[in-house]
Amino acid sequence: MSLAHDTPSPRLEAAVCKTCGHLFLPSGPVCPRCWSAGFATRALSGRGSVATFTIYRQQYDPGFVPPYVIALIALAEGPRMISNVVGCAPESVRVGMPVRARFERRGERVLALFEPDGVAPTADAARQGEPS
Ligand SMILES: [Zn+2]
Repeated sequence: MSLAHDTPSPRLEAAVCKTCGHLFLPSGPVCPRCWSAGFATRALSGRGSVATFTIYRQQYDPGFVPPYVIALIALAEGPRMISNVVGCAPESVRVGMPVRARFERRGERVLALFEPDGVAPTADAARQGEPS
């Protein structure tokens, strides 16, 4: 995962290949599709859905108190990433559930976690055009 956290508003980013247009995570030395070394970064919407998940009920790290959800998130733009689903009961998580990124600072790191997304993307897009 690439996370732009130096900016006031953290956001998800993925590498985009300048040769074939493939969007991928994590970024690496070459495009995994065509092996081109030329790529840039593109901001992602932070929206996606749960591709699969598991509920951890044993504590492995002091920073993660069970029960908590580890999920493979299928991002709207295509790449997939591992993260936590938060903001809901672990038992309520389902495959295919719409989620959106939520950023939390833990020490010096900013984590991209995901929470249920009950709002359609079009509603957010319309809201962005409104004066605040
Ligand atoms: Zn490529």
